[in-house]
Amino acid sequence: MAALAELSVPSNGTEYLDIDSFVRALDDWAVKKKFSFRMLRRDAQRAVYVCAEEGCGWRVRARPTDDELWVLVIDDDEHRCIGRGVRKFASSSKKEWLDPVVSRHLNVTKETRPKDIEDLLRVRFAEKISYKVAQQCKLRLLDGDIGAQQHSFQLLPAYKELLEKVSPGVHVDLIRDRHSKLFPSLFSSFSNYL
Ligand SMILES: [Zn+2]
Repeated sequence: MAALAELSVPSNGTEYLDIDSFVRALDDWAVKKKFSFRMLRRDAQRAVYVCAEEGCGWRVRARPTDDELWVLVIDDDEHRCIGRGVRKFASSSKKEWLDPVVSRHLNVTKETRPKDIEDLLRVRFAEKISYKVAQQCKLRLLDGDIGAQQHSFQLLPAYKELLEKVSPGVHVDLIRDRHSKLFPSLFSSFSNYL
C-alpha cells in the first residue's frame, strides 16, 4: 500500500485556493486514515464538515481569509467512531478524487478493465470501490483522454533521465506549470554537439 504514503494529512491552518481543493485535501485524509465525512453546513463565512458516522466528534471547518483563500480549522481530529466510514460518503468513490488518482497510476485505455481500476484501489489504497464506479471512472478518463495525457506527462522525467543517460552532454529541462501540474515545455540543449 505504498500509494497511501503519497496522501497527506492536512495540518491546522493550511490555506487553500478554493473549497474544492480544501475538500480534495479532506478526501486524501479520509482515504489515508479510513473514515468518511460529510458537509454539515455551508455559508459565506464557513463550510463545516463532520465525520459521516453518527455521534463521532471529528469536525473541521474552512474559514475564508482576507485574501480570498480558505483556511483549515481543525476543531476535533479524534474519531470515536468504530466503523469504517459510510459508503455513500466514501472519498475513493468520488470522481473528483478518483479520476486524477487513477490516471496517475494507470494508463487507462479501451483495453483497461474496470476490475483493473478496482484492483488498483484495493491493492494500493486499501479502498473498495464498486464495479460501476470503476466502469464510470474508465469511461470518463477515456472520454477526456485525461488518463493517457497525465500518464505521458508522468513519464517525462523518466524520458529525461533516459535521454541524458544515453546521450552524455544532453541536458533536458522540464518546466512544470504550477497551476496545471503538467509540463507545457520541454527544452533540450545539445550544447556538446554544437
Ligand atoms: Zn469518525
